[in-house]
Amino acid sequence: MNVHEYQGKEVLKQYGVVVPRGHVAFTPEEAVDAAKSLGGDLWVVKAQIHAGGRGKAGGVKLAKSLDEVKAYATELLGKTLVTHQTGPEGKEVKRLLIEEGCDILKEYYVGVVIDRSTNQVTMMASEEGGTEIEEVAAKTPEKIIKVSADPAVGLQPFQARQLAYAIGIPKELVNKAVKFMLGLYQAFTEKDCSLAEINPLITTKDGNVMALDAKLNFDPNALYRQGEIHELRDLDEEDPKEIQASKYDLSYIALDGNIGCMVNGAGLAMATMDIIKHYGGEPANFLDVGGGATTEKVTEAFKIILDDPNVKGILINIFGGIMKCDVIAEGVVEAAKQVGLDRPLVVRLEGTNVDLGKKILSESGLEIVAADSMADAAKKIVSHVQ
Ligand code: ADP
Ligand code: MG
Repeated sequence: MNVHEYQGKEVLKQYGVVVPRGHVAFTPEEAVDAAKSLGGDLWVVKAQIHAGGRGKAGGVKLAKSLDEVKAYATELLGKTLVTHQTGPEGKEVKRLLIEEGCDILKEYYVGVVIDRSTNQVTMMASEEGGTEIEEVAAKTPEKIIKVSADPAVGLQPFQARQLAYAIGIPKELVNKAVKFMLGLYQAFTEKDCSLAEINPLITTKDGNVMALDAKLNFDPNALYRQGEIHELRDLDEEDPKEIQASKYDLSYIALDGNIGCMVNGAGLAMATMDIIKHYGGEPANFLDVGGGATTEKVTEAFKIILDDPNVKGILINIFGGIMKCDVIAEGVVEAAKQVGLDRPLVVRLEGTNVDLGKKILSESGLEIVAADSMADAAKKIVSHVQ
């Protein structure tokens, strides 16, 4: 789960990570009030969307007067911002962060991720801040310095010092940078983050080390114990199909292709997407209906797929183990009854109650293409959508 920059900064503040003073604003008037209450004579008006690259796309504006704050806020609110992370359709700006303008000495990068291959938490840092870290990694990987923290003992102060010196933080600010990194690490672990990225971390002319941007992602499987974080969820930023799916506890992820997939089991779902691609097609989604799905759940899953205008054909691939083929068949028939089936449907069923499942489908009057293997099913659906 993703949160907005201003929310991420609030979380980090609780752990002693210094961030610029700022307030969220939903209207130009609130933006001006926020700037007034911050005082000073330089403010930054920042579009809050769940995507980076706002600076380059015109979503971060420096304002030198309250009139400019108002003008930029009016310009940005309601605007669709297209950045390299939003996709071509962009994201509409509905909130702003009004922040004090900082006197930047230099911009750095620091990120925290879970490294599954070593079972450790990796903190990485670079002197190349403010730019896309992917580009730094591709062109000058030696400029990214990494340390591994064993979660049993946490990030050690000597490791943070190592990072701070390696990226060239001025000697007199190293202690502040160390405190910053230790606080960031603690926030990462205590709040069950899957990613924390500060780009840029800055040093300022008045001797501060601050997070000027904050991107925090949280492990959705840990949200049950992170009530405070869960409340930060902004449904406006999420795909409506994924919101609908999460209401029914379905593992659904929208993708760019045109073949809707309904599968049971995450492994089979991955394999199904692979075989679709192998035969030249593109999946429109990942969907695992799970093991113990009810007819109602299958119905909802099928409706979500049918609701997607990009879907030109559907592939159902079920291996009935705990999941029974007749339950799937009933769900499909029910959903088709409710919303109508207007696109080609290829079904491959195997396993528990397969004969009953096939019978329900064949007696339903629905136009269904039967397939007897995954390869056969993939070939058939690909040929139908071309
Ligand atoms: P994004 O990563 O989405 O482009 P950032 O928050 O990183 O957005 O901001 C982009 C750039 O804008 C920063 O690298 C920094 O140079 C400048 N900037 C952002 N916030 C401030 C601020 N409070 N004071 C001064 N400059 C800022
Ligand atoms: Mg940034």
